[in-house]
Amino acid sequence: MNNVAKIPSYLSPEHLGPWDTYLVQIDRVEPYLSRDLMPWIETLTRPKRALIVDVPIRLDNGKIEHYEGYRVQHNLSRGPGKGGIRFHPQVTLPEVMALSAWMTVKNAVVNVPYGGAKGGVRVDPKQLSIAELERLTRRYASEINILIGPEKDIPAPDINTNEQIMAWFMDTYSVNQGKTITGVVTGKPVALGGSLGRHDATGRGVFVCTLEAAKKLGLAIDGARVAVQGFGNVGEAAARLFADAGARVVAIQDETGSIFNARGLDVRAVRQYRQSKGTLVGAPDSDTIANDRFWHCEVDILVAAALENQITEDNAPAIRARIVVEGANGPTTPVADLILQEKGVLVIPDVLANAGGVTVSYFEWVQDISAFFWSEEEIDSRLDKIMRDAFAAVWDAAQAKGIILRTAAFVLACERVLTARKLRGLYP
Ligand code: NAD
Repeated sequence: MNNVAKIPSYLSPEHLGPWDTYLVQIDRVEPYLSRDLMPWIETLTRPKRALIVDVPIRLDNGKIEHYEGYRVQHNLSRGPGKGGIRFHPQVTLPEVMALSAWMTVKNAVVNVPYGGAKGGVRVDPKQLSIAELERLTRRYASEINILIGPEKDIPAPDINTNEQIMAWFMDTYSVNQGKTITGVVTGKPVALGGSLGRHDATGRGVFVCTLEAAKKLGLAIDGARVAVQGFGNVGEAAARLFADAGARVVAIQDETGSIFNARGLDVRAVRQYRQSKGTLVGAPDSDTIANDRFWHCEVDILVAAALENQITEDNAPAIRARIVVEGANGPTTPVADLILQEKGVLVIPDVLANAGGVTVSYFEWVQDISAFFWSEEEIDSRLDKIMRDAFAAVWDAAQAKGIILRTAAFVLACERVLTARKLRGLYP
């Protein structure tokens, strides 16, 4: 089967959407999968189910506005669905399908007992008041109620969704069920069954994976130059952890602009400035650089922690990093992936690098179900171990088969998913 052939001809390679990117990745994995799993491989190219919902809300001015929302369960072979909820003006069904598929793969890479799911609403939440955002969240939660539940599908935060939104989500579900059910979402506030360590978990996973990769390349983190695209939940935490480990975070880019300091930016001061001024531009001890120059910065490590399709055939040739770490989901297009491979850049793929978030979400879910909560030290050390073990397994598979880390991570994950699928068999 050749999934590339299924991509509509009007889509030139540089304009592949995220779902097409995912299909190309599955194509690249196929030759390395066990032959006995081949009859099941098409399972991976079809979401199990996808729900499109209308989310009408009353705006503060009395008008009724409709938004389109989605919840996709890509695969449930290994356990309940798990994956975040994104509020963004560019959310589409194929994007949510791709994000749900990457969750299937990611959950299998770190071997947590979940399938893959994802949700989103096509909305610019920055245009909504807090009250409107709460109504949107509650209505969306009610609309996808038929799919979710602690044993069915457990949402979490993603772009533009946070702890407060998870709290509204959990409250809406609980009110509808007539009892408090904290385990229906993760990424909740700690006061409401959330887990210590969840806020930094994805950035921490990015950091731990990079440490492991740097060891393999003989690159010292102390003094290493790091550039970070995206300064939100993932990018900010990763930047802070790199800086705390002695690395120099020389460049940061977010949607408001790009800043640079060859001696290293003060990440905490930049965060404070970004929070108070609403922009990176003008942050203490920084020069503003053009957004396209960001990709040319001379660095050892480049962390892509913003959106998908950021590293393309246009900017990949300029990248000078030894390691590219995908904090975001799908930031590298398939063509850019090949360019980086040819240049000898080590890419730590999203399904491995950003799995720290779902790993601590798993811890949160376990803590909620058992009603017994762990210390932050326990969480961090368990997270670090899972990330280090997953990195080692992916690295070893890549070495053994002579393939890149992305393909190795997919091979490992797809073998786990398809083995579960095969063991379960077909009903009827
Ligand atoms: P966030 O909303 O907290 O931050 C997103 C960041 O990206 C912001 O700094 C924003 O300014 C920046 N950004 C947006 N558009 C940009 C553009 N065009 N150019 C440069 N920067 C831009 O989101 P997040 O939770 O940090 O998620 C970032 C990525 O990581 C997403 O791909 C998400 O799916 C992925 N991810 C997040 C988690 C998590 O736990 N939050 C887990 C796994 C993966």
